[in-house]
Amino acid sequence: MPSQKPEEVAAYRININGIVQGVGYRPFVYRIASSLGLNGFVLNSGNGVIIEVEGKPEDCIRFVEKLRVEKPPRAVVKTFSCTRITPRGYREFRVEQTISEEVETLCPPDVAVCKDCLNELFNPKDRRYLYPFINCINCGPRFTILEKLPYDRVNTSMRKFKMCRDCEKEYSEPSCRRFKAEPNACSRCGPTVRLYQGDKPIKVENPISEAARLINSGFIVAVKGYGGFHLACDATRRSSVLELRRRKRRGNKPFAIMVKSIKEAEGIVELNDSEREWLTHYSAPIILAKKREPNPVVEEVAPGMRYLGVFLPYTPIHHILMRNIEPPAIVLTSGNISEEPIVFRDGEAFKKFKNMADYVLTYNRRIVNFADDSVGFVQDGRLRLVRRSRGFVPEPVEVEPRVDGVLAMGADLNNTFALAKKGRVFMSQYMGDLENMLIRRRYLEAIRSMQRLLNLKYSRIAHDLHPAYYSTQIGASLDGEKTAVQHHYAHVVSAMAENNILGLEVLGIAFDGTGYGEDGSLWGSEFLVVRRGEYVRRGHFKYVPMPGGEKAIMEPARMAFSYLYDSMGEDALKINIGLSEKAKTFLKRMIDRGINTPMTCGLGRMFDAVSALLGICLTRTFEGEPAVMLEMVAGGVDRGAYPFKITGVKEYVVDTAPIIRSIVEDLKDNTPVKTISQRFHETIARLTVELADTIRLEEGVDTVVLTGGVFQNRILSSRVKRLAEEKGFQAFFNNIVPTNDGGISLGQAVASSLMEEE
Ligand code: ZN
Ligand code: ZN
Ligand code: FE
Repeated sequence: MPSQKPEEVAAYRININGIVQGVGYRPFVYRIASSLGLNGFVLNSGNGVIIEVEGKPEDCIRFVEKLRVEKPPRAVVKTFSCTRITPRGYREFRVEQTISEEVETLCPPDVAVCKDCLNELFNPKDRRYLYPFINCINCGPRFTILEKLPYDRVNTSMRKFKMCRDCEKEYSEPSCRRFKAEPNACSRCGPTVRLYQGDKPIKVENPISEAARLINSGFIVAVKGYGGFHLACDATRRSSVLELRRRKRRGNKPFAIMVKSIKEAEGIVELNDSEREWLTHYSAPIILAKKREPNPVVEEVAPGMRYLGVFLPYTPIHHILMRNIEPPAIVLTSGNISEEPIVFRDGEAFKKFKNMADYVLTYNRRIVNFADDSVGFVQDGRLRLVRRSRGFVPEPVEVEPRVDGVLAMGADLNNTFALAKKGRVFMSQYMGDLENMLIRRRYLEAIRSMQRLLNLKYSRIAHDLHPAYYSTQIGASLDGEKTAVQHHYAHVVSAMAENNILGLEVLGIAFDGTGYGEDGSLWGSEFLVVRRGEYVRRGHFKYVPMPGGEKAIMEPARMAFSYLYDSMGEDALKINIGLSEKAKTFLKRMIDRGINTPMTCGLGRMFDAVSALLGICLTRTFEGEPAVMLEMVAGGVDRGAYPFKITGVKEYVVDTAPIIRSIVEDLKDNTPVKTISQRFHETIARLTVELADTIRLEEGVDTVVLTGGVFQNRILSSRVKRLAEEKGFQAFFNNIVPTNDGGISLGQAVASSLMEEE
């Protein structure tokens, strides 16, 4: 290249893709360009941000270098291309209107209110003092108010609010941090909050502080957030918490609490650095952190749990509310009746909350896309989401380009679906359990609106192998070529995809409740060797009967009997598991005759059985309760384990009978329950790694992928990982994608695309 003369003008065209809309990218570019005295323009196109700059060659280069290394806090740059062009003689640097083409740019997730906005919110001299819809280019609702891309005000539910002159000025001033902040508003022109009793508005000066006062005095108040309504009550007041449980028809399932500040949180739960980081992160998830003992929150919030789900205020309404709350924390749980979808429309709210909330605090900006709070915990310094929703959706998981044009239906429990385009998998927000008819209706609606939002078309439908799953049947009713993906294989692929190891040969270990197997039986303790888009089942636990099918899931005592009967025959009848003689004889007969008794090898069912056998949980009130409570009681320094046996050749089988017999022995010896639980966890961890080691000898795979709902168990997952690493394995978990069935849609999307290759 010939050397440039100093007076020469250079020009470049730069194209940047990723999360670059709604995150302040254009003002950021504008500031750099003007600081260097460059001319040109920046615009949002259907294909990311496009910039043209011209000026002195060295300034142009500085500009490009700066863009490569710096970015606004919320932006995610995925691709960056820069080409030299002929100078066009621009006179200034301009921020251009969005041009719409085929939209490829990503939709940003909702962002918790930022520090700058908070400072203004609580500054009496600011024109937005206590204005509950304050936001800027770095914060505010996004996904939940957006109908379609590009992310422009006309495509959001802010459309109906016409900006006043002051707001308009901020919005069009490139140096302002509200430049192109699509939900920009103030008390003169933006949305307003109202408090209702029943469906009648209450006249009060400040509806939010009034709502706080009501919560302080023991009432239950519904509060509209970014993605739907919450139900709120004083978390330190037993009567309110119990009343909320009764009205929500919620058994023992823990409630999450919103704490006033990170400082107050430290008084309730123990926090390490990464937990603190995630609590204050702009995605503002609920973090399951270890309870401090004693703490001011009543036990009824999360009965028997070692962990409490805590989160911090993330909307301006929450911040104003929490300032006026007296206790350090309030229960803030999804606004719905148990098992039903979260309420997010006002009309629906007044109907549904009639008997649930004493008051409703709402506002007149429509929620377009509902989104429950995301929930996760930190393990080894990394976040592991058990529910991926608000704050994360619809950020895609990047995989390979072959994954394209697929709608993945997900599984029936903790459902999410996914849409894939050119190597990006857009997982939906959390739906809930499809057994509920209202959730199914919501699911179909959400598939349609996600398609509209992202402008995605699909030609293929990936679904679970289970023919009776609602998700399978709904998928069958839609147009497109169908591909069934085995449940546990989907789990393994989901973890491979998010860890970027789709090219590796791995041993996938999928432990969960139940999933439909290739042979029509119920799987759930799978050792799958995965290579080149195929899997071989190399091991699993022994099959045991599930007397009563679904009923055995709801009543863990049935599983306890089944395991006992399997390991000690008639002697099982003598063991007390909280069932009458008659009930036990009845179960025995069911098993003997095989009436309504499918066979399962799901490890989740074994956890259920042991939980009931130890008298911890005989009937469950929420999914996973027996296993969770078994984990909660485990403790002590005991590192003992029970004997186990592995049989078989091509397909190894873990014989669980010796484990069950030893637990019965321990019970007879009055060994403390916490020790038995600890030993049980240790046993499963050891045998898992031992079997992995055996399979490695034959298959040569030394990467293990640990997935499935059972790996939400922290004791088990950290022990398996530790032991596997000691044996020289590299171990991977699901992290941002749930390890439970909430991650299945990703696995289906990817697996179905890779299968097609053949
Ligand atoms: Zn802000
Ligand atoms: Zn205004
Ligand atoms: Fe599963």
